Amino acid sequence: MKTISIAGSGIAGISCAYFLVTKGIAAAVYEKNPSVGKQYPMSFQAFENFTDPDGIEFIEHLRSYGIKADFYLKPVTELVIRSPDGKEHLLKSKKPVWHLIKRGNQDGSFDVSLMRQCLEKGVSFHFNTLLPPGNADVIAIGPTKVGGLAREWVFETEHEDVNYLVMDNSFAPNGYVFLFVAGGHATMTLATLGRFDLIDAFFKKTKDFFAGRFGIKITNEIERTHFANFFIPQTAMQGKALKVGEAAGFQDYMLGFGMKFAITSSLLAAQAIAHGENYDMLWKKELLPKLELSLCNRFIYESAGDFGFNFFTAASEQHDFREYMGLWHRQSLVKKALLPIAKFAKAGKI
Ligand SMILES: Cc1cc2nc3c(=O)[nH]c(=O)nc-3n(C[C@H](O)[C@H](O)[C@H](O)COP(=O)(O)OP(=O)(O)OC[C@H]3O[C@@H](n4cnc5c(N)ncnc54)[C@H](O)[C@@H]3O)c2cc1C
Repeated sequence: MKTISIAGSGIAGISCAYFLVTKGIAAAVYEKNPSVGKQYPMSFQAFENFTDPDGIEFIEHLRSYGIKADFYLKPVTELVIRSPDGKEHLLKSKKPVWHLIKRGNQDGSFDVSLMRQCLEKGVSFHFNTLLPPGNADVIAIGPTKVGGLAREWVFETEHEDVNYLVMDNSFAPNGYVFLFVAGGHATMTLATLGRFDLIDAFFKKTKDFFAGRFGIKITNEIERTHFANFFIPQTAMQGKALKVGEAAGFQDYMLGFGMKFAITSSLLAAQAIAHGENYDMLWKKELLPKLELSLCNRFIYESAGDFGFNFFTAASEQHDFREYMGLWHRQSLVKKALLPIAKFAKAGKI
């Protein structure tokens, strides 16, 4: 079989190469930037552990695919959420609600680890090389429209570890902000789905809030702005090419936990290529229900507004947080009934 050309070395592109070579198919990854993970300055991101219907942690899924967890990985079982009424809620779970990982182009990042595991299996990487999607077998070029904005502030600090989230429309319209500090490394991220014109003001407000709340001394600070996009495609094929990850619109519309979607779509794309299966049928069976659920959850989230956030955070305190998040991410008849309305509401946006 010919070598499969993959445009993009984000998580979708690298994981697709990994799944292809493990199935005995040669893969070449083309990346327009000089390295993997170039857009992230060793920022914290998280593998969420609350949406799996069988309660299996995402890292266990990765291990079951043969991926070695030789990258930075920190389980989180406690965090504080600040609700719009200004109250702080300490939320706990017996098992990790998520695992923190690092994204970037240095050792310890998930990106570099995945690339190394691909290289060991013979994948070739071609950096500083833009591959037009029309010339690719797999299109993994990330989002192409701005549906949401995320701005990061990454720095070093001597402050003790912090896991802190703010759910409040006056900080991030229809979004959230968080500060994770672990081992002297910190990431503050503001993710918003509205009022992009005011992102500078929201970001300043958030920085001031955290600086005041924790009195953090900061060194080596870096700021980055990213965009994200979510849509449910009719097809994830572009001609004969298969689109994976955010290039196909595969994202978690509710909270932006897109890595799971990127990796799962890549696994399905590799399966389709290896066995001549219909990729659209595969992702529609596996991913479409999850995409629709995240669309419904977002509709509820946006409709509930600050009143809903106050209720949610107060109720979370009374439960095991991972289990409570799992409940919110479960399919139900009400959510199925809401889906057409959620789709209609989304149709007016990008
Ligand atoms: C600030 C932020 C925080 C996030 N936090 C989390 C989190 O905690 N948990 C989680 O699960 N998800 C998180 N996400 C989402 C997650 O990172 C993305 O959904 C996922 O990484 C998308 O991967 P991708 O490979 O599809 O796209 P991308 O990561 O965008 O990768 C696309 C790659 O393709 C390259 N490229 C583009 N065009 C070409 C071309 N023509 N030729 C060659 N190369 C090309 C780009 O340079 C890029 O490297 C976060 C996203 C952001 C922005």
